Amino acid sequence: MIVAIDGPGGAGKSTVARALSERLGLSYLDTGAMYRAFALATLDAGADPADAATVLRLGAARDLVLEPGPGGRLKVRLGDEDVTERIRGEGVSAAASIVASHPSVRALLVTRQQAILASGDWVADGRDITTRVCPSADVKVFLTADPAERARRRHTELLARGDAADAAEVAADLAERDRRDTTREVDPLRVATGTTEIDTTGLTIQAVVDRIAALVSRAVG
Ligand code: C5P
Repeated sequence: MIVAIDGPGGAGKSTVARALSERLGLSYLDTGAMYRAFALATLDAGADPADAATVLRLGAARDLVLEPGPGGRLKVRLGDEDVTERIRGEGVSAAASIVASHPSVRALLVTRQQAILASGDWVADGRDITTRVCPSADVKVFLTADPAERARRRHTELLARGDAADAAEVAADLAERDRRDTTREVDPLRVATGTTEIDTTGLTIQAVVDRIAALVSRAVG
């Protein structure tokens, strides 16, 4: 069983995917964490995220491991360093979106993601998970929310992490990432056929998880 959750940043993908995986007892794959880890490896080396060959070399050189952590969260390791927290910073978010626009980086990470998803039962999220990584998933969902709501969620998330982010800057950053994700050459963000679109604006996490769980019941029933 694979449940694939697609959609733009701040639509609630990871929160919903994590809650759903716990509820259904499925493993959780956060594909964005992989792009973030490659971005962090690039920034740590003082290199330019826009330089595809360097990103690929630096990312591939460090062992990237995702493993279940406390509270259903994934623990992300790069080499022998736990980077779970560091990959969530705003600098890394901006770099990850640039890193994810390189076809060579996408090819490598999509192959890794498909290998991970080839066995077992999963909830996987990411901006190409229904279109490219797993178009034959049992359940495909595309989460949206209006841009102001998405920016507000992202801002709240950063404040909760102790990141003194500016609301207007977060909104502008999200808009720029949306632009990059929807216009990139390879696997741009879009709604695939057979995908259920859910607008999460004004919905609780619980309500969204309930809707997807109902789709899963229907798929297995
Ligand atoms: O979802 P998250 O914000 O952690 O993803 C970080 C970046 O990685 C996004 O800005 C997006 O550009 C990229 N990404 C992607 N394809 C995925 C997952 C993430 O392009 N499957």
